[in-house]
Amino acid sequence: DAALAVPDKQVPSVCPYCGVGCQLTYNVKDGKILFVEGRDGPSNHKRLCVKGRYGFDYANHPQRLTVPLIRRKDAPKVADAEMDPDRLMDIFREASWEEALEFAGGTLAKLRDTHGPKSLAGFGSAKGSNEEAYLFQKLVRTGFRSNNVDHCTRLCHASSVVALLEGIGSGAVSNPVMDVTRAEVVIVIGANPTVNHPVAATWIKNAVKNGTKLIVMDPRKSDLYRHAHRYLQFKPDTDVAMLNAMMYVIVHEGLVDEAFIASRTIGYEDLKKNVEGYSPEAMAPICGIDAETLRYTARLYASSKGSMILWGMGVSQHIHGTDNARCLIALALMTGQIGRPGTGLHPLRGQNNVQGASDAGLIPMMYPDYQRVVDPAARARFERAWQLPAGTLDDQPGLTVVEVMHAIKAGTVKGMYVMGENPAMSDPDANHARESLAALEHLVVQDIFLTETAYLADVILPAGAFPEKTGTFTNTDRLVQMGRQAIDPPGDAKQDLWIIQEIGKRLGLPWNYGHVSEVFDEMRHTMPSIAGITWERLEREHAVTYPCREEDDPGEPVVFVEDFPREGGRGRFVPADIIPADERPDTEFPMVLITGRQLEHWHTGSMTRRATMLDAIEPDPVALIHPLDVEQLGIRPGDVVTIESRRGSVSLYARADDSSPRGAVFVPFCYYEAAANKLTNAALDPFAKIPEFKYCAVRLTPGGDE
Ligand code: SF4
Repeated sequence: DAALAVPDKQVPSVCPYCGVGCQLTYNVKDGKILFVEGRDGPSNHKRLCVKGRYGFDYANHPQRLTVPLIRRKDAPKVADAEMDPDRLMDIFREASWEEALEFAGGTLAKLRDTHGPKSLAGFGSAKGSNEEAYLFQKLVRTGFRSNNVDHCTRLCHASSVVALLEGIGSGAVSNPVMDVTRAEVVIVIGANPTVNHPVAATWIKNAVKNGTKLIVMDPRKSDLYRHAHRYLQFKPDTDVAMLNAMMYVIVHEGLVDEAFIASRTIGYEDLKKNVEGYSPEAMAPICGIDAETLRYTARLYASSKGSMILWGMGVSQHIHGTDNARCLIALALMTGQIGRPGTGLHPLRGQNNVQGASDAGLIPMMYPDYQRVVDPAARARFERAWQLPAGTLDDQPGLTVVEVMHAIKAGTVKGMYVMGENPAMSDPDANHARESLAALEHLVVQDIFLTETAYLADVILPAGAFPEKTGTFTNTDRLVQMGRQAIDPPGDAKQDLWIIQEIGKRLGLPWNYGHVSEVFDEMRHTMPSIAGITWERLEREHAVTYPCREEDDPGEPVVFVEDFPREGGRGRFVPADIIPADERPDTEFPMVLITGRQLEHWHTGSMTRRATMLDAIEPDPVALIHPLDVEQLGIRPGDVVTIESRRGSVSLYARADDSSPRGAVFVPFCYYEAAANKLTNAALDPFAKIPEFKYCAVRLTPGGDE
């Protein structure tokens, strides 16, 4: 009985789920985690949400992979087969580590040598540590010898990062979440923190109690709207219309910060000219927010002493995601609401380490610290740091997540190494993604469970779960924190860093990293932003914010105080115009599908659906449908409903929920038995290559497979 047992060990660590990065303590007895408690970390001050507190026993789940597996010769890869963990040994056979690694790494090397470096690609994970992300991208760049490396940042905030780099020179947040307690006005747009960043949501609610005015802007009525001073339920896909209308008001009513614009920005005249076509009166019918509310909100944001904007996937996951973020950046720049405590721009990062994995270079166009692969000086720096002959590194950006899937179909990518990602569930148009994965000549998957992606693998390498390894993780606030090993991997499973190195050796890389701190030390010598963070300091302080350039630098929670890290130190306005969603509703598919997460489940569900408490609360796939739409369908809440798009169909339980507007259905993407991404559209934002997860056309019919 865990409640009565006394732990024999307490291990300080961090939560493995969201980007808030709550610090916690693992209470361990006899090699098992008994319970978890919140610690006094900078982002949580002892608070934890249901995932952090109860989502830990997945590590002991009987379905953990404990030995390397090789696909049987007579087990064809069937893209549309539903995963069945009970049939695991019909498809795979057990292998020794030596055999599995030789087969995994040796075949990748053979494909590279036969078909060239670009015949291979690697997906790392935002769930892994900074050191794992760094070593994985180094393996692809120096072992595969291309930049075909990416991870799920492509699916979440890639568009925000493109807009931020272009506009203010840094893809990370300007101020920590906790700054909401110092802001007069907080805008939360396209985000549902109560579900996706729960402890951050508690700080927002605390701020409201202390007088901060909260503006919630979202087509879906998230829980936070109950605390809002104003709630703007704009029509899905109309962000640019609404935000440009606010800018129109700010320009026309003289609410711009002229001194800030003159001394710290470029491109304002172009923006001013562009918003002329976006009066509140003209935009009100488009975005569904009346002109007076648009005016009021614009005035409130522009004229407060400190206004802060936080946003999430509702902004970023559109084919105009980059444009949406450009508008938010322009709002902050034109009003000078950035560069001070209680102001700024905060794209709420999703995964626990999506910030760190991106910083570490797990993206196809940039080396660690966002040094561009097309920049000869950056290439030369990394060739020196990695002791490579000059001219070795690929000078072209690699393929992004969705582009890799197309390249497999086209026959140009033939082999893949996937560490901790589950593209068979998380990619848009999942049927297409699964067909691509099944078409690979060689797929190596490194994971803790038999995921839907692993089901299509040629070789599966059993890895360590979060509490089974030590490493650093960077939260949404740019806080680098130490996660510590609390328990051992089960059976013959190994820590990811060891596996990456062993694959590297089979690709001819002469690596010999011992402790994880050696990888971190190499990172900080190639990444100026964390140069001042030593392993010893992290062990001592648990968390340090970057930029931190010198060892005595305390770190900078608020950045852009004096200037922006762009040419001339100035922020840049980039105007945006309305671009409609790629697939609009029509008579055949009359409703809109919005995908996302639930409080209890994380992404593709491989961990949380195996966490006893979380699975008990939300065990079945559900579609959240407006009560009047439920009535119109002639069904009752709890009945099965089938949702179809042009790409696939799923059947799941209808839940009446008035947070979705009429005509829009919300489906969490964590349920393998009703994979929402079989429905989604793989159309991409042209700048960031992020897919349009937040908008596609579907039809609903009563009934279907239970
Ligand atoms: Fe974990 Fe995020 Fe919940 Fe904190 S808010 S406990 S980091 S899931």
